[in-house]
Amino acid sequence: MGRGSERRKNIFDKFSTHLNDLRKEGKLVGIELKYENTYICPICLNQFSEADLVANSKNMLTLEDSPPDSLGGKKVALTCRDCNSRCGHDLDFHLQEAILELDSKEHLPHSSQKATITVDGIPIQGEVKVTETSMKITLSEKNNNPKVVQEHLKKVAPDIVATVEPRPSRVNPLKFDVSLLKSAYILAFAKFGYNLFLNPCYDIVREQLKNPETRIYPEGFWTKQRFAEEHEGVYFILDEGFQAIFIILPVKTKSTTRRFGVALPMPNVPIEEVVSKLKEQEAGFSLKLDNMGGGDIDYLTNKEAINKMNEWISKIGKDVTTANEPDV
Ligand SMILES: [Zn+2]
Repeated sequence: MGRGSERRKNIFDKFSTHLNDLRKEGKLVGIELKYENTYICPICLNQFSEADLVANSKNMLTLEDSPPDSLGGKKVALTCRDCNSRCGHDLDFHLQEAILELDSKEHLPHSSQKATITVDGIPIQGEVKVTETSMKITLSEKNNNPKVVQEHLKKVAPDIVATVEPRPSRVNPLKFDVSLLKSAYILAFAKFGYNLFLNPCYDIVREQLKNPETRIYPEGFWTKQRFAEEHEGVYFILDEGFQAIFIILPVKTKSTTRRFGVALPMPNVPIEEVVSKLKEQEAGFSLKLDNMGGGDIDYLTNKEAINKMNEWISKIGKDVTTANEPDV
């Protein structure tokens, strides 16, 4: 077994055991598991068996990175190949590109940017590369007429100012958002598993991931405040009316690490309301965050922790007076 298939098998085993535990405890309401060992793709919710770990399966289970591999991601879950190709590389390009554009806009070491460099009215195509100690402009051989390059170089002199116009952004803001949403959703799914993520309140996230061309999930669901490295992880926002999952997601390049805060829904609290409240608070909001025991508690296997969490979740978003009334 190669490392990739071993990793996939381990993830499959962990989550299918977790599903079987939930079934035994009667916590899978309205869901019939098709196989002795079942994996449910967190994006399309289709069921898969161990046979779908094999490459000749019709819709194979593939490793899913959060964030994308190129941004320092970790392989934390499986998604089916259909989902992986529908909201995979094309989508993640926009997250990666946006981050690299930020690096070069901030002239961070190891960043580079394609640009038009104009000297004395003669524009040529090139690349601006930033190192620890300098900034270098490289002229592209294939994108320039050699004669124009000669003309351009003749004009370069110590007292001549060159203007550098970065290539227009190739980032589609919606696809950037959807890629970030996917990374946060996959990371939170890896932590809390099916106990939380089969809840219909996550349908809005799944619909957005399945339809990256149309905005479905409310705009403004992420914030780019400065978070410290020790704050990376998955949290619950406890404040009344703000109850949501809050993921502090690290995104790494050769130049730096940025951390995004991403809000995902909780049952019974409409995410649209939470996002609009978060937007109002934008400048330096402070919220009560709970990391649910950090990495010390395994929410796929620790029954006591799962029950405690479920109890808390069942109370949120409901008026206390009605929540205490018996069901009629
Ligand atoms: Zn799927």
